[in-house]
Amino acid sequence: MKFDRLLFGTAGVPNTTAKKNSPIEGVKRIHELGLDCMQLEFAHGVRMKEEVSSGLRKVSYELGIPLTSHGPYYINLNAREQDKIDSSVERIIQTAKISDLCGAESMTFHAAFYMKDSPFDVFDLVEKSMNIIEERLNRLDIEIELRPELTGKTSQFGSLDELISLTKNVNSCRPCMDFSHLFARTGKYNTEEEFDAVLGVLKEELAAEALQNMHIHISGISSNSKGDLKHLNLEQSDFNWKGLFNSLKRFDCRGYVICNSPNLEDDAKMLKEYYLSL
Ligand SMILES: [Zn+2]
Repeated sequence: MKFDRLLFGTAGVPNTTAKKNSPIEGVKRIHELGLDCMQLEFAHGVRMKEEVSSGLRKVSYELGIPLTSHGPYYINLNAREQDKIDSSVERIIQTAKISDLCGAESMTFHAAFYMKDSPFDVFDLVEKSMNIIEERLNRLDIEIELRPELTGKTSQFGSLDELISLTKNVNSCRPCMDFSHLFARTGKYNTEEEFDAVLGVLKEELAAEALQNMHIHISGISSNSKGDLKHLNLEQSDFNWKGLFNSLKRFDCRGYVICNSPNLEDDAKMLKEYYLSL
């Protein structure tokens, strides 16, 4: 998708949606709130009736609210047992199929846990699975960006470097830039200079359009040194979101900004207002 600017939306159906379990109502609510996009959360399983996915596709198109998606939490491409790796691959493919039916063009997921293995070995395994997934999706004629998430826990695969390498090696792979996780994971990346540095690395290491087609996650966050995460509203957190948006604006970044603070739409609207004021 071509973007003119950053688009703002919520991770899942907004809290103020009358029918909280209806993603179609969620998209309508996003539109009423003056937000731009919505992420479908398949955190606890990838199931959706066909009339829901076709309805979502329709309402998203009619209201001009593009969709992204987030795969299930129980994915681990570095599981001990091969059958668990296989079912993780299937879950990612299933997420891609349903996302595609809904018209989503970008999906994110947590790729793997290190399980105390060497990160280099884990990288190779993840890369192998990603290539298998890509090939299967090609055969199904499904075109979707596969975006492993920048994860917040040091036990999880998904550092900035890993995502950049994976993007270089796998065609349909792009990073999902969770800046709150990056802060939680490293205890750094909370100043404008550091945000500039990250965006500079993305620009230099990846194709020029990497900053023109981003999938970003933002929330308030608290963390301990192991990256044990708690999502907070932005105002309750130390996360320097204004600095981040100053940088994103300076680099003319475009794409999706998905807010997963507990108050979802409140922070998403605050972010959008601030960004548009720059
Ligand atoms: Zn996530």
